[in-house]
Amino acid sequence: MSIKENLELVKQNIADAVTKVGKKPEDIILVMATKTVDPERIREAIHADGRIIGENKVQEALKKYEVLKGENAEWHFIGHLQTNKVKDVLKFASMIHSVDRMSLVEKLDQRLRHDGRSMDILVQINTSYEESKYGIAPEEAISLVKQIARYDTLKIRGLMTIGLFTKDEVKIRKCFKLLKEINDKIIKEGIDRAEMKYLSMGMSGDYQIAIEEGANMVRIGTAIFGARPTPDAYYWPSEKTDADRE
Ligand SMILES: *Cc1c(COP(=O)(O)O)cnc(C)c1O
Repeated sequence: MSIKENLELVKQNIADAVTKVGKKPEDIILVMATKTVDPERIREAIHADGRIIGENKVQEALKKYEVLKGENAEWHFIGHLQTNKVKDVLKFASMIHSVDRMSLVEKLDQRLRHDGRSMDILVQINTSYEESKYGIAPEEAISLVKQIARYDTLKIRGLMTIGLFTKDEVKIRKCFKLLKEINDKIIKEGIDRAEMKYLSMGMSGDYQIAIEEGANMVRIGTAIFGARPTPDAYYWPSEKTDADRE
């Protein structure tokens, strides 16, 4: 199947899933996860009406952005962000899905202040409690959101999570329910400047479940572009490095 056909199928599946929750297809924002996908295939997807590109590695993204910046697309950063890549991520991203620690918040704030601008962000939460996954622990999430909300350079727009990798639907659903729960608690607390608009959850294997649990932003790669040549371990290292623990 072509990228265009895959995209149409994904959009149809999204449309089917939203009817169960009383939303409209246009309420769900599709982010195309494009790690390992070369610029020409990404261009094909943009021309097939894919509007948002989600990249995982800053250097890889910048190279593609140089080729594709004339195209009508928005670029999100969805991968783990190292503090030494902050300056470069700001060159292309209009939203960062993976803000998960204060050391990163401080670096982002410094750079944004220097540039005299702001950035839309999502706070990434580790709802699966897997040691290998990035994201703040669910118990610490609200406190992190409160701290981030003090920085006017960072516009909090919602939360992001990666569901547990398993065939067990109940366990996957539990991750998404937890993100929604934390989101509702944050709304209830009425934290100033935390605009909880987006729940970024759901990937190729679980986006219908995510939508049923309240996702309005899904990040989909394989279902659009096919299987990836590089193992995901390269993008989600199973061992966190010291630099990541800062
Ligand atoms: C790769 C990736 C996705 C998409 O994964 P697929 O299973 O290929 O749809 C979504 N979110 C993040 C953070 C990713 O790294």
